[in-house]
Amino acid sequence: MSKGEQQKWKGSRVIVVGMGRSGLAAAEWLLAQSAEVTMFDESKNPAVAELAGTWKSRGATVMTGREELPSVRFDRAILSPGIPPSRPVVRQLRAAKVPITGELELGAQACLCPIVAVTGTNGKSTTTELIAQIALAAGQRAVACGNLGKPICEVAPLSRNLDLVVVEVSSFQLETIETFHPRVAVYLNLTPDHLDRYADMKEYATAKARIFKNQKANDIAVVRKGIVLPKSQARMVTFTADGTGADYTLQDGWLCARGEKVMRQDETRLRGSHNAENLLAALAVADAEKISREAVLSAFRAYQALPHRCEVVAVRAGVTWVNDSKATNLDAMERAVCGMTGPVILIAGGKDKGFDFSGSRAVLEGKVRAVLLLGEMSAKIERAWSGCVPCRRVRDVAEAVKRAAEMARPGESVLLSPGCSSYDMFKNFEDRGDKYRQCVTALPKEEISK
Ligand code: ADP
Repeated sequence: MSKGEQQKWKGSRVIVVGMGRSGLAAAEWLLAQSAEVTMFDESKNPAVAELAGTWKSRGATVMTGREELPSVRFDRAILSPGIPPSRPVVRQLRAAKVPITGELELGAQACLCPIVAVTGTNGKSTTTELIAQIALAAGQRAVACGNLGKPICEVAPLSRNLDLVVVEVSSFQLETIETFHPRVAVYLNLTPDHLDRYADMKEYATAKARIFKNQKANDIAVVRKGIVLPKSQARMVTFTADGTGADYTLQDGWLCARGEKVMRQDETRLRGSHNAENLLAALAVADAEKISREAVLSAFRAYQALPHRCEVVAVRAGVTWVNDSKATNLDAMERAVCGMTGPVILIAGGKDKGFDFSGSRAVLEGKVRAVLLLGEMSAKIERAWSGCVPCRRVRDVAEAVKRAAEMARPGESVLLSPGCSSYDMFKNFEDRGDKYRQCVTALPKEEISK
């Protein structure tokens, strides 16, 4: 960041909305720039109240446990990605015409090295990690950050000593960008999700396409074949695992770059056509960044699937137990089902996000032998799938695992791939996946030995 940019924050009154990891990283950076920082979180959770003491002693003003601000005298607001624009505080800030900047924008402005950004409905974390691993294998100092855990505001202060920042960005974060300018931007896919936040798919697609907004002619847009984009100056490179007609394709199990066979997918540990697309997108980024094939091959061979993404948690008595708790929409669930070898016992359900599950019937037919349903959506899903596959509602993950163990036969998979978010019964998708893993590993051996 230039001296001028740094000066811009000095003494300015900034409110950071949300005291999760992103908000705290933003506040930390702003305090270091001598901004007058107010931190706001409407949560009444004692853990948040506890944070207040620490941050007050560091010079911030802290307000927690209330929905609205007593006064709105700020020069700028920094919004954490998890805060919906419909919250009273955001409405209050907008009404008072306080400019709102997202944490992504703030972190990117502070970043001193080039940025590669990844968006899409599914596969962002996997692809972001893959790209960072490729860069590391090539000897670059690279960090993966953003939505997948480490906020960009935490990484930006270290960026003077980095060669590349690979950032996973959600549509929510893209809503509040201004100057965010990735050298390479990846748009993986677009399928229904977050329809509780967006009016329709068009609005969701528009938010995602903002990733290309500030790209110039020297930049590269890596896009799944078939995605229609608004006019962009960037050079477009396409990929698909579904047939030909793109720059990067999957041909007879080979990951190919403009017809050249680069590597067989089965030399990696990533299975399924969805993961082929993640690998192809990462390969396209590596080529755009002029990274050697040797580094790509070594990173692809070494890469282990992230937990909760089609993660094999146990293979016992011929039954494979898979944790795909991160599947919080229908496309992820369907791709996981298709990626399994042999018949599947599917554990699905969770919080209602407005999906119509009847569209998945064709994917289940002939592949899924039985379904165990969890949570808020179980009755709706049972109705949507009635007559297609036997469904049974269960109380919790423990019961789901117990019933699945009674049913599963050698050669089959038990797949937790809920197609819904987890907030009806769990803290988050990690909590749901961890509980599943615990229940599976705690099963007495004879229960899964058929
Ligand atoms: P994200 O960060 O976008 O949520 P992840 O890599 O964490 O993506 O994967 C989330 C879920 O989507 C998992 O269930 C995973 O198996 C599935 N998935 C991963 N890549 C893709 C893809 N390219 N298309 C569809 N589903 C995918």
